[in-house]
Amino acid sequence: MKKQKNRVISAVLCLALSASVVMNVGATTIDEAQQKANELESQKQSTQAEQNALADQLNLIAEKMTQTQAALDEKKTEITQAENDLIAAKVDENDQYTSMKKRIKYMYESGDTQFLEILVEAKDMNDFLNTAEYVSQISAYDRDMLKQFQDTVAEVQAQEDSLKAEYEELSNLQDELTGQQAQVQTLLDNNNVKLADLESQIGANAQVLADLKAAAEAAARAQAEAQAAAEAAAAQAAAEAASSGGGSSYIPPSSSIVVSGNGQFTNPCPGASYISSEFGEYRSPSDPAHKGRDYAASTGTPTYSAADGTVLIAGYSSSAGNWVVIDHGNGLVTKYMHHSSICVSAGQSVSRGQQIGAVGSTGDSTGPHLHFQAESGGVAVDPRNFM
Ligand SMILES: [Zn+2]
Repeated sequence: MKKQKNRVISAVLCLALSASVVMNVGATTIDEAQQKANELESQKQSTQAEQNALADQLNLIAEKMTQTQAALDEKKTEITQAENDLIAAKVDENDQYTSMKKRIKYMYESGDTQFLEILVEAKDMNDFLNTAEYVSQISAYDRDMLKQFQDTVAEVQAQEDSLKAEYEELSNLQDELTGQQAQVQTLLDNNNVKLADLESQIGANAQVLADLKAAAEAAARAQAEAQAAAEAAAAQAAAEAASSGGGSSYIPPSSSIVVSGNGQFTNPCPGASYISSEFGEYRSPSDPAHKGRDYAASTGTPTYSAADGTVLIAGYSSSAGNWVVIDHGNGLVTKYMHHSSICVSAGQSVSRGQQIGAVGSTGDSTGPHLHFQAESGGVAVDPRNFM
């Protein structure tokens, strides 16, 4: 038994050791894998936050670029308008110059030929006008008109130049925004790669964690099963030891003599609870008077021979069940009925107080009891007369 117990303990220890080995495979424990999962999740969250910030930045740049493009488009329209205005102003200026020259030519054609020569030789409008000594000869009206047209041309030109400068500025801004957009987009792309990598690491780690947990559960289950099996084996061993050492529940009839009272008959069933029916009783109108005395007792209660004698009958009868009949000599006979078992046999001598059987309810009986009957000369008599 002690040896058995030791073997069980060592088997359980062995299993516990192998379970802890399984859980440490790849130098990764559940705790380590869980910690890694937390770290990866936190990295993912910060990368995601970065990602959102970059996306916001990109949206802002795109918005600015849209605004700048709208301004550029507007500026382009204005520039086109300014160019057309300039052309118109130059046309006006030239018309004025041409008509002015015609009038001067007409005025002086027949007079001052020297003036006409200068007029013809003038390289351009300004050269002509700057020739101071002749300016006085041009009518004030013409001079004013020309000056006005020239001012308009200059004004439109300046406006166009300014518009072109603004356009240039906007164009530079747009280039700058395009550069920024590319830069942020690159960061966003890199971040996307990082995020995808983290996702894949998280997935792989989750698998490792799941595997570790499954292995730990399987090991714990195996350990529990082994322990249960060991306990069952120990219990069976203990049961086997008990049955081989303790013997059966069979109890042989008592060999001691049980005698009570000083009469000729001893009590044939001192273990009875009570007398359920006395000799001579009429238990129902159709029944004859009761020929014996009924000892109500639980099944198995020992019955004893009332006096010394010889067993005449030890067997079975359909009405008396397992019964014993003993001859005491001098015409005195006792009958013992309804036994569950009998421990004497016909022809056997028995002593007063020797066990002959055990109470039962065989034959014509409604419950366990001993029907004890005494007969003298073949006639039933009250057993109490002999007690
Ligand atoms: Zn009876």
